[in-house]
Amino acid sequence: MPTYGYLYDRFHEHQASLDEAETSGAALSAASCPVCGWSTDSWQEIGEHLRTEHPLGAPQLLVNGRPCASDKAVRRPLSAGAVCVMNTTTIDFSVDGGPSTSVDAAEVGEALAAVGTGHVQLVLHNERADGASAARAVVFDIRLADVRDLDAVESAFDETVSRRLTPSEADSFAERSLTATTAHSYAGALHKFLIALLQKDGRIGGSGLELSKYPARMNEALHELSQYPDRPLARAAAGVIRFNINLFGGLASGIPELDRCVEQLTRSSSDLDTNHPERLPSELKSCPVDDATDAILQASADLDEPRRSRAACTQLVRFASAVDTAPADAVKARALVLLASPESASDEYRHAAEALVHDPTFGGLAETRLRSFGKLSR
Ligand SMILES: [Zn+2]
Repeated sequence: MPTYGYLYDRFHEHQASLDEAETSGAALSAASCPVCGWSTDSWQEIGEHLRTEHPLGAPQLLVNGRPCASDKAVRRPLSAGAVCVMNTTTIDFSVDGGPSTSVDAAEVGEALAAVGTGHVQLVLHNERADGASAARAVVFDIRLADVRDLDAVESAFDETVSRRLTPSEADSFAERSLTATTAHSYAGALHKFLIALLQKDGRIGGSGLELSKYPARMNEALHELSQYPDRPLARAAAGVIRFNINLFGGLASGIPELDRCVEQLTRSSSDLDTNHPERLPSELKSCPVDDATDAILQASADLDEPRRSRAACTQLVRFASAVDTAPADAVKARALVLLASPESASDEYRHAAEALVHDPTFGGLAETRLRSFGKLSR
């Protein structure tokens, strides 16, 4: 069999060359690190040295100081300085599937800022002198919204949406904002937010609009709304969503009742820091919230009133254990009860604490309270 013979012959040739090298002394000549020049007499040690002394970091891309995932939506103009890369030696840059050009790490921000609309694919490479490399692709979906279109979407929102939201108001908003062509993503996210509220409150039905699916819709809306930190409405809607999914911290919503409640909830925790906007909008406009959020906000305001505090606690405890209360809302209600009544030893409080023990945000608080309840009952 010719194939077998060929392999057999090559194997012998290879063995022979190895023997030759071993005896000739060539293999004993110094091996040196291709990166720093450090030398030793074993290539195996060089391999070990490369791994420990020159680890090959994965390329990283930061936008406004935050690590960027594999895709990034851009709706507001990027400043050239907003983008920076780390562990990156070369970057391939291509717009809308066109030919890729090589861009310097220092110039990538400028190149991105120059693109008005398009899908930009960046492939970041980190190459080491010995030929090892790591790569990472990031796609920027750049569709800059015109300020006039953003304003038009917000006017449409103000004129069609009331605090007690209805499905037909959500429809009118979608219809009214159609003309704001460059702000479609913004209008779409606000519409998604409205639909999610209606879904949560059970005021809308149909396939895909089930109660269980509102958090996913809220998350989608939040992803887009976070692109507009300079728009008070986007910040308010994003704040309502973050409150709904118990994502505390980040930019304040600008809705006083909501920001006060978030402050109550995060007061005990040093690592939950809420950034307050430097200036609140001078003229407060309204942003709808779901019924459960409304109930929590009212009860949390009552907690600060000595005469109403007790009734508010009872109300929150009942709300938390009601069958139709969303798990995230039950967590907030119980946390508010624990935070408002640090010294109580009643069964109600104990149960509230027990239910929170495994919560990632309030578990520590619950454990502390349970320990002090233990002391009180002894
Ligand atoms: Zn080295």
